[in-house]
Amino acid sequence: MSIADNLLKIHQRIDQALIKAARIDRPQLIAVSKTKPVELIAEALHAGQFAFGENYLQDALTKIKYFKDKKEGEKIEWHFIGALQSNKTRALAEHFDWVHTLDRVKIARRLSEQRPHHLPPLKVCIQVNLSAETTKSGIRPQECLTLAQQVVDLPGLSLQGLMAIPEKLTVFDQQLTQFLKLKTLRDELEQAGLSLPALSMGMSADLEAAVCAGATLLRIGTDIFGARS
Ligand SMILES: *Cc1c(COP(=O)(O)O)cnc(C)c1O
Repeated sequence: MSIADNLLKIHQRIDQALIKAARIDRPQLIAVSKTKPVELIAEALHAGQFAFGENYLQDALTKIKYFKDKKEGEKIEWHFIGALQSNKTRALAEHFDWVHTLDRVKIARRLSEQRPHHLPPLKVCIQVNLSAETTKSGIRPQECLTLAQQVVDLPGLSLQGLMAIPEKLTVFDQQLTQFLKLKTLRDELEQAGLSLPALSMGMSADLEAAVCAGATLLRIGTDIFGARS
């Protein structure tokens, strides 16, 4: 199967999930290209895929630089979906369009200060930890409102919504229950006056449940580029 075939299959899965959920607004597909070479990204680009997700900063910067001088690279939107550290914020602020994994105000302030003025504000999602026992990254739901209110005031950032990586479950209804927790939290925060249109959730194994729960950004790696070694 080619990358183009894989992308077509993903879009068909999204279509079917939208029908099942009686939803008409289409989520954006982010092709997660971490650890994959530029040749495969170029193949996806030629098939009409322009948003890419990366987790590892050095690996990502090499790819971003490669496409910077290429005509086809102009349209690429780069999404950072990996773990954040203070010493990475400058490169992220300078080279990415989105950061999905914000969970601390200190990092938010650095990203805002370091965002170059000639670029639009960096789009960010706050990462929420839906299962405190099993994972460490992400903020606890009850702390989300405070962080969101702090992020909204930062001029270099544009708060878009929430992101989660739920624990791996195989049963659709259990996946759905997890994703609905994020959607419910988003709805509560909007009741408190925030605008959070983005819900970044859904990977290769749980795309359908995420679409059903209202995902607006799907992060799909394996089912586009193949398994990672
Ligand atoms: C790797 C990764 C993905 C893609 O996962 P697949 O199962 O390969 O589709 C999505 N989101 C995050 C945060 C990731 O680290």
